[in-house]
Amino acid sequence: MPVVNNPYRRAPRPAVAMVAADSAAAASINLQMGPQSQKRLTLNERTHQLQSNSHRKKLKAGDQQTLFGDRAFDPNKDCAKCKARLGERDLHRGHHPLCWNNRRTKGVISAAALESIQEEKRLKTHFSAPLADKDKFSSRHTTKEAQEAFFFHNN
Ligand SMILES: [Zn+2]
Repeated sequence: MPVVNNPYRRAPRPAVAMVAADSAAAASINLQMGPQSQKRLTLNERTHQLQSNSHRKKLKAGDQQTLFGDRAFDPNKDCAKCKARLGERDLHRGHHPLCWNNRRTKGVISAAALESIQEEKRLKTHFSAPLADKDKFSSRHTTKEAQEAFFFHNN
């Protein structure tokens, strides 16, 4: 079996030199930063961690968490109408804007999403309506080429 000589092969580094290089790179960070600022960084991290936990309400069992750690909207707790319906009462009041039983917003309050819901409704009525007589069997937009292709080219 012929042995292929690799012209790009590097000479292997001794293990002791590799470890020394790695620890020097790690130590260079700590050499530039004094103990005072290292303590300050740790203190900042700890403070922010405490803040993030203290400023929001704690989640209870069954609560859904949002992306930012807050409690997600729950209609049975946050919507007065849905909450009343749980107790088999009826409140003469609209659903909360975030409630997905709200017919107007469907729980979505971004303007773009509302627009798309309205457009969807408009298209649904447009396509479910039957064609008007003025739209049927009209050859007003038919070109001469299209007529020829249809009537004479098929033979
Ligand atoms: Zn509701």
